[in-house]
Amino acid sequence: MIRVSGLHKTYRDESCALEVLRDASVEVDTGAFVAIRGRSGSGKSTLINIIGGLDRDYTGDVQVNGALLRELSEPALATYRKQTVGFVFQSFHLLRHLTVLDNVSLPAAFDTAGTRREASAVQARARDLLELVDLADRSDALPTQLSGGQKQRVAIARALFNEPTMLVCDEPTGNLDAATAESILDVFERLNAELKTTLLVVTHDPHVARRAHRQITVADGTIHEGHVHAPGTAPPETGVTASP
Ligand code: ADP
Ligand code: MG
Repeated sequence: MIRVSGLHKTYRDESCALEVLRDASVEVDTGAFVAIRGRSGSGKSTLINIIGGLDRDYTGDVQVNGALLRELSEPALATYRKQTVGFVFQSFHLLRHLTVLDNVSLPAAFDTAGTRREASAVQARARDLLELVDLADRSDALPTQLSGGQKQRVAIARALFNEPTMLVCDEPTGNLDAATAESILDVFERLNAELKTTLLVVTHDPHVARRAHRQITVADGTIHEGHVHAPGTAPPETGVTASP
């Protein structure tokens, strides 16, 4: 369960302060598949970075699986980022000199918790994940040999390596064409159904958003249920216009 309540976030530098989130609250059940919508600059990335433990400069409460993130020590927050959260970004962030298999196994290289696994176990885990994202046959390829959709599936497999309970995805289909985006959504659906992974997916794409089980919108510094149009924005795609 994710509980965000009374979240405020202001970016400051010497000359100005930008209040991005102003009393934002939302609850997300474990195993939910949620699309996060909102205009560019509304604070979607800010929100998921806070939930993912990447940013702790805010006020308000963010509670995940019963733990208040604000109260975690730096090492505990690092463990949270590594073990509870998987991150997927628009631009994949694969290491181009490593094979697909080694990219997926990368989290094992950062495993400093004394739970270092045998190399064979690491490889087996990476192979299972590649199977889950339908890339078992590309494990020896380099990222440059893959399509955009395949690269994103490698990134998703890597994000799953430590068995996170939640995936935080920031415009994961933003660099992909519509058909490829659908294949990424197929993978998300499978993870959500089979592994019960909670999915928070920021997206601009209404088709992507509709395949989630719930939509929320970040607008005016708060979180609204559903797909909401902030004042001054265009109405939905229906194209109904007022008569002159
Ligand atoms: P979204 O993901 O919805 O497009 P962001 O959360 O990235 O929006 O950003 C929200 C607002 O905060 C934007 O106006 C953006 O320019 C600003 N912003 C984001 N990150 C920073 C930062 N590190 N420093 C200052 N301003 C920032
Ligand atoms: Mg963003």
